[in-house]
Amino acid sequence: MKNNTSPLPVDQARRIISEAVTAVKEVETVVLKEALFRVLAEGVTALIDVPAHDNAAMDGYAFSAEGMDMGQPHTLKTIGPLLAGYRFEGMVSPGECVQIMTGAPVPTGCDTVVQQENVDVQEGFITIPAGNASKGDNIRLRGEDIRAGENALKAGTLLRPAHLGLLASLGVEKAVVRRRPKVAVFSTGDELYPVGGPLPPGGIYDSNRYALDGMIRRLGCEVIDMGVIRDDPAKIRAAFAEAASQADVIITTGGVSVGVADYTGQILSDMADMAFWNINMRPGRPMAFGRIISDGKETAVFGLPGNPVAVMTTFYFFVRDALFYMMGTRPAPLPRLRVSCLSPLSKRRGRTEFQRGILSLNEQGEWVVRTTGEQGSGMLSSMARANCIIILPADGEAVTPGETVEVVPFEGLV
Ligand code: AMP
Ligand code: MG
Repeated sequence: MKNNTSPLPVDQARRIISEAVTAVKEVETVVLKEALFRVLAEGVTALIDVPAHDNAAMDGYAFSAEGMDMGQPHTLKTIGPLLAGYRFEGMVSPGECVQIMTGAPVPTGCDTVVQQENVDVQEGFITIPAGNASKGDNIRLRGEDIRAGENALKAGTLLRPAHLGLLASLGVEKAVVRRRPKVAVFSTGDELYPVGGPLPPGGIYDSNRYALDGMIRRLGCEVIDMGVIRDDPAKIRAAFAEAASQADVIITTGGVSVGVADYTGQILSDMADMAFWNINMRPGRPMAFGRIISDGKETAVFGLPGNPVAVMTTFYFFVRDALFYMMGTRPAPLPRLRVSCLSPLSKRRGRTEFQRGILSLNEQGEWVVRTTGEQGSGMLSSMARANCIIILPADGEAVTPGETVEVVPFEGLV
């Protein structure tokens, strides 16, 4: 058992993980609506200009301002309305204008659109008061968003709603994306029982698998749920072998500390090539990471702690990055805010602490944070009440009210 090795600093553990995992190789083609939160395996080149024609940015009147002094008022003859989706077939001569709707192609001979609100309208005519328009106003140029031949999206882009919209604007119907990583999950512990049945004396419901399932699927990976495995070395060993044959990554919870029934650590030290066992953080100190290599197939493995809050914290700060790399994208650093802390926070010097916080706006419209209270690593209710994690760096000390702390908001994360 190697989990009494000295704990790694948080940043070093993250670096080791980022260097150890690789993107899944297989790709598949999916229709746009199936592509949300998938990762592009190939870049996308635009085949058309967007917009495809010069068009009106406003409802108004299109005319040619060539040779006109817009510092003077002008009266123009209105020669017809033009709605979005139609072309103006005629020719617009000097002294004439076309009433045009937003998005309609600018008629031949016109170079300016004056906004409807800025003109005086008479029957069959408009008057543009002095200074109310200048040449080139309110025209969106062909290709100003994207030009044909240009790289519109790079390989490795995690497809969010804006990307799906952008692909649709190019007329792209399907996206070539990487296969979703398969994540095998099992809980270990004789005390654990699945929901849906009674709880015998000494038992607790297995909550980790549900929190993990939500976090993994929310990222866009596939879960292989292997249930609860008893604290029995042969069963745990068999579960790892089975998981390694099917999954790209294995996540287990429990059994990695130094208790008598903590077999996961021992088994991993036999079956896997382990990079580390402990991280210098709270909650989440016992957290093992390594690789199982069998039949030429490599599977990353995370042995997370048993305590539910520690599971979620280690997932967000370590596993999440690894899953993004496997999906084929670079994880963007989690946004951090520096805010005033309203509560005193106790903290032991020398280890990074991740405390649960509640971020809110004060009466001055500034973000402030307070603690959720007790920070026991088994207290899931505090995680459910929190809307951010307060990160207290290893070299920092206890926090007094009014001090500035760094927080990672859950919005977009959890
Ligand atoms: P362990 O690391 O196995 O000693 O577990 C540490 C603590 O976490 C113990 O109190 C366990 O009962 C609890 N625990 C372990 N696994 C789970 C789970 N899947 N769901 C809820 N609590 C768990
Ligand atoms: Mg256990």
